[in-house]
Amino acid sequence: MNAVEWSLADEDATMALGRRLAQVVPDGLVAYLHGDLGAGKTTFARAFLRAMGVGERVKSPTYSLVEGYEIGDRRAFHLDLYRIADPGELEWLGLDSLAEPGAIVLVEWPERGAGALPPVDLELSFRHEGPGRAVRIEARSATGLRILQSLGA
Ligand code: ADP
Ligand code: MG
Repeated sequence: MNAVEWSLADEDATMALGRRLAQVVPDGLVAYLHGDLGAGKTTFARAFLRAMGVGERVKSPTYSLVEGYEIGDRRAFHLDLYRIADPGELEWLGLDSLAEPGAIVLVEWPERGAGALPPVDLELSFRHEGPGRAVRIEARSATGLRILQSLGA
């Protein structure tokens, strides 16, 4: 199986998924977070980063485009490219470090950074489902597959 689909009945379920992913994440990970405004991408990313050990407040990178964190000797990046009109606009952000081995990278609205982002391991697509949300998780690399297996998929 290289894809799973889960219902996320409430905000807690979205956060629980973030915590669960944090438990099984290998050294490096690039995850693209798809979904409309309000689909739960930032909720998920925040729970994930907190569970990874980010002590400081996890801000939404809506305006900064990218937030970086040190987790021990690992680096994590959380991007929100909603406000990007053209991937060329990303050049000044110095995104080279996203591709460094061991980096943990979460990207909201990755389609807006096409060509400027490191290759994806895991794609998570969030959507509204009744009052709650649902998520489809797809593996896009060997790393992604291992993660899906560890998630019990
Ligand atoms: P996005 O980053 O995709 O725009 P957010 O993570 O900011 O979305 O979430 C928007 C709202 O959706 C928040 O108020 C959050 O509490 C709520 N939310 C997140 N997950 C769920 C869920 N599974 N069910 C209901 N509401 C949720
Ligand atoms: Mg968001």
